[in-house]
Amino acid sequence: SARPRILMLGDPPYLRLEQWDHFQQRFEVVSPDLSSREGFMQALRENRYGDFEGIVKFAVETGNGASPWNEELISLLPSSVKLFAAAGAGFDYLSLSALNARNIAFANSRGAGDTATSDIALFLILATFRLTSYSEWAARTGDPKVFNEVHLEIGSKSRNPSGKILGCVGLGAIQREVARKARALGMKVCYYDVVSPPEEVIEALDAEKCETLHELAGKADCVSVSVPYMDSTHHLIDAHFLSAMKPNSRIVNTARGPVIDQAALIEALKSGHLLSAGLDVHEFEPQVSRELIEMKQVTLTTHIGGVAQETFVEFERLVMSNTERFLLDGEQLLTPIGKQFEPSKAR
Ligand code: NAD
Repeated sequence: SARPRILMLGDPPYLRLEQWDHFQQRFEVVSPDLSSREGFMQALRENRYGDFEGIVKFAVETGNGASPWNEELISLLPSSVKLFAAAGAGFDYLSLSALNARNIAFANSRGAGDTATSDIALFLILATFRLTSYSEWAARTGDPKVFNEVHLEIGSKSRNPSGKILGCVGLGAIQREVARKARALGMKVCYYDVVSPPEEVIEALDAEKCETLHELAGKADCVSVSVPYMDSTHHLIDAHFLSAMKPNSRIVNTARGPVIDQAALIEALKSGHLLSAGLDVHEFEPQVSRELIEMKQVTLTTHIGGVAQETFVEFERLVMSNTERFLLDGEQLLTPIGKQFEPSKAR
């Protein structure tokens, strides 16, 4: 019998080649032309790819030519489509409600990058306490005078994370790992989340609950932001939150740039109210703020939280396994995303 047809956005798997071989025996994989969004939409209108049942995306970096996957685009999909399975933990490039309205299930690759992303969060936390970016900048000048000056200056500002409070904005899968690792540095944990984490998670982390975001702001020596980006989390960290933070405290963001009001953060750093920040994600990514670039106490990375080969192996496994389970074996998706996480606007 005919194999179900699958539309593949972007590059094929390159790590789990055995599973990929098997997958291609079970599905007919078609690569659409994504060089222009308009061209792709026209191809859908003309039914150029026929009746396909699933859409797969194995990498975050490729296959984005048709984005955003908003209602305008999704309404053009044939009624045969049942599943969209994608790499990555975020899903702010598509409208879940538009998929829901068409009865198309969505699975992301949540969990795949938890280890990698929490490692980077821990690195940024450490960097904000010890001001390692400033030190690295000084070392790279190759100037003995700068070396000695910065050594002295950092001595007056550097603090141990040990005994300090990590304020977790969101206590989901990644943040639980961040908190567990930060406790190895001797940090204490408090959190604010709109959903109560399981009791055993709270116990294992000895985490103190904050009833409001504002309460967390006033408690933390370092805030770690790890919530999905949606309407309700756009600028969740705003001038009001930042001014409620302790003087000389720190903030780390490994979630999505626009969860923090970047202009307000720059002000809080400029005024000296905040000592430092560690940012893996940026409000106007891939453009990094000029003002932040100039601030040596700030550590900046290029959205590398999840970027490790182990993550990519898991992306490939989850996308293929979800597709096989759902379309062929009549089994539940491993990592479905429900309606409760509606991202704001498809970018
Ligand atoms: P998750 O769904 O397991 O956890 C998110 C938590 O945030 C949940 O517990 C949720 O209840 C909570 N939350 C939602 N809205 C909130 C609000 N207004 N206030 C407080 N808490 C709120 O997700 P996760 O897998 O831990 O990932 C978190 C985010 O990290 C992802 O959505 C993604 O955007 C980002 N991420 C970034 C990278 C990177 O490379 N930097 C890698 C992976 C994921």
